[in-house]
Amino acid sequence: MSRLRITEIFYSLQGETRTVGLPTVFVRLTGCPLRCGYCDTAYAFHGGNWIEIDDILKQVAEYGAHYVTVTGGEPLAQKPCLELLERLCDVGYEVSLETSGALDVSGVDQRVVKVVDIKTPGSGEVTKNLFDNLTHILPHDQIKFVICHREDYEWSKNILQQYQLNKSCEVLFSPSAGQQPPGLLADWIIEDRLPVRLQVQLHKYLWGDVPGR
Ligand code: SF4
Repeated sequence: MSRLRITEIFYSLQGETRTVGLPTVFVRLTGCPLRCGYCDTAYAFHGGNWIEIDDILKQVAEYGAHYVTVTGGEPLAQKPCLELLERLCDVGYEVSLETSGALDVSGVDQRVVKVVDIKTPGSGEVTKNLFDNLTHILPHDQIKFVICHREDYEWSKNILQQYQLNKSCEVLFSPSAGQQPPGLLADWIIEDRLPVRLQVQLHKYLWGDVPGR
């Protein structure tokens, strides 16, 4: 019987990605090997409760939602996460995985929508990027840059062009809350005609600095 260390399981509206605004169950796994400067889920670094995958599935089912997001922390830091993802897909949920881009995504079930970060210099974790992950990106996946300032924007633009990321999947440019004014980032994207989607964190507009609520 596999089990995972879980910080929380809750129902809310999706605050990011392509399913923004849709009712979603979030499964937040405990622990992360990174320490991004802008992290808003440091409470998930430690603690949590060990829960059997069967029981996680039962808790998720109670909410009756179609969308399930597995997040963290860094979910892939716990190996049984791969089994959880597969079993959620088997039940018929539309499943997404939010991952830092620092851990190997090759074992993730192909039905899962992977939302893979590429860590910018402003995150403080740029050396952790595992660029091999880009070979496992599927058209339904999304690649996300969190932009802290103009230097991050320029850096991200270079990576976007160097790897032609928008040919693999949708690319999200997201302003770091409290650091990068969203309107200014929008102006830069328009000015440069970048083929990316500007993403703001809906949950922060709705409820303040509370991830997913
Ligand atoms: S990878 Fe995510 S959870 Fe981990 S420190 Fe960075 S922002 Fe926080």
